[in-house]
Amino acid sequence: MIVMKFGGTSVADAERIRTVAALVGARLDRRPVVVVSAHAGVTNLLLDLAHRALKGPTPVAEVRDRHRRILDELRLPPDLLQEEMDDLRSLMKGISLVGELTPRSLDCILSFGERFSARVVAAAFRTEGLAAEARDAYDLGLVTDSRFGGAVPLESSYAEVGRALRKMKSVPVVTGFIGKDRQGNITTLGRGGSDFSASILGRAVGAEEIQIWTDVDGVMTSDPKICPRSRSLDVMSFAEASELAYYGARVVHPATMIPAVKAGIPIRVLNTYRPDHPGTVILAKSPRSRQAVKSIAYRTHLSLITVTSSRMLMQPGFMAKLFDVFGRHEVVIDMVATSEVTVSLTTDGRKDIGPVIEEVREIAEVEVEKNQAVVCLVGEGIRRQPGTVAAAFDTLRDARVGLRMVSFAASNVNVSVLLPQKDVERAVRALHARFFEEEAPSKPAGPRRRSAKNPKAANKRKALRK
Ligand code: ADP
Ligand code: ASP
Ligand code: MG
Repeated sequence: MIVMKFGGTSVADAERIRTVAALVGARLDRRPVVVVSAHAGVTNLLLDLAHRALKGPTPVAEVRDRHRRILDELRLPPDLLQEEMDDLRSLMKGISLVGELTPRSLDCILSFGERFSARVVAAAFRTEGLAAEARDAYDLGLVTDSRFGGAVPLESSYAEVGRALRKMKSVPVVTGFIGKDRQGNITTLGRGGSDFSASILGRAVGAEEIQIWTDVDGVMTSDPKICPRSRSLDVMSFAEASELAYYGARVVHPATMIPAVKAGIPIRVLNTYRPDHPGTVILAKSPRSRQAVKSIAYRTHLSLITVTSSRMLMQPGFMAKLFDVFGRHEVVIDMVATSEVTVSLTTDGRKDIGPVIEEVREIAEVEVEKNQAVVCLVGEGIRRQPGTVAAAFDTLRDARVGLRMVSFAASNVNVSVLLPQKDVERAVRALHARFFEEEAPSKPAGPRRRSAKNPKAANKRKALRK
């Protein structure tokens, strides 16, 4: 069996959905399990409606019309989603009446995107002559914990889901992104979580491959939206892909690699717009590559927290105390750097960290700077070529990007730097140019030798540094 997951843009309209039907139809001999995201833009629209409902009655007309158009173009019955649309309407009404939007009710609202799209896609498959049936992942037995907005499946789900899927005679079209907890509440796996769903289903059925069909030619040397000269990678390791995803390369959700690693199933990232392109295969081990840096990721909206305590030196256990505060408030720390009297930490700046800061202030001085970003170079070769770090610093200095923090360890497959968010695109483009666009690729990616004989270039560099 294989899993074929189609993201929002791949099921954005009738034409894209017909393309998906053809892709699935051509692979019936591999017994595909299809996983779908909501149609492009629908999750954001639902999120927006949910917040608007807090302020007063909010009609679901925008969501209804978006789906009606797709149904119309596919010549499917206009009332195909009536039952779910009515449920969504009631839920919205409840939220505007009560004036409260809990993480639990938000997950329930967001789940409609995938529930709609699975039904539309399965019905479209049938009109294209493919025997297919829509399934909500939780009805197959996908049970998660109760962390709304970022749930993870319970171990017992795998066997259950595997059994349910293997029994199906027609092509299952399964909702990505959602599950249910033990109490029966709908949960979501976090934004972009349909990739994770695909991998969960892949492990559940012991798939030979998990295919992530998206709108680019696989995992690329950087985000092609900000670096148009990005090119796709043939192969990378689970470790590299996890780092890239964690540091913001949206192309696969960071948790996708976990079930795949556990079951040893390759993940292949493919382009729905160019199905003949081989894309990128993600494997347990990728072959040694001459290129130390494989890809550059970036993540924005981070906060830098600087904790200062002149008494730290004499206090064993200070760090434990500090991290305990973050842990209790469930605030995730991304990067850490320490000196004798300060600890610098980064965290997602969109989360409310007020209560953590308040508590840390009881043991130290704290300063918070918002609008920071991390840029991360990923590649297993980095640890074999320490010159990479020097080259990255050189490049960022030449691009006049000021660094706030650096993270690199000998065993790492990444080097990450924190910088002001306003500089992030410039930094990524400069690093991309340095590591992927320079000629003579036979030269290892080490620090560039500067010719002392070229006074013009030296003057230009001096001028740039000012
Ligand atoms: P889908 O809707 O198919 O899940 P996403 O929008 O979540 O698609 O992810 C695909 C997008 O990820 C691409 O359009 C691209 O802009 C972005 N992206 C960021 N970093 C990378 C990268 N290193 N390689 C490929 N795509 C990337
Ligand atoms: N529809 C969800 C989102 O937009 C899940 C996904 O697309 O993977 O986050
Ligand atoms: Mg995605």
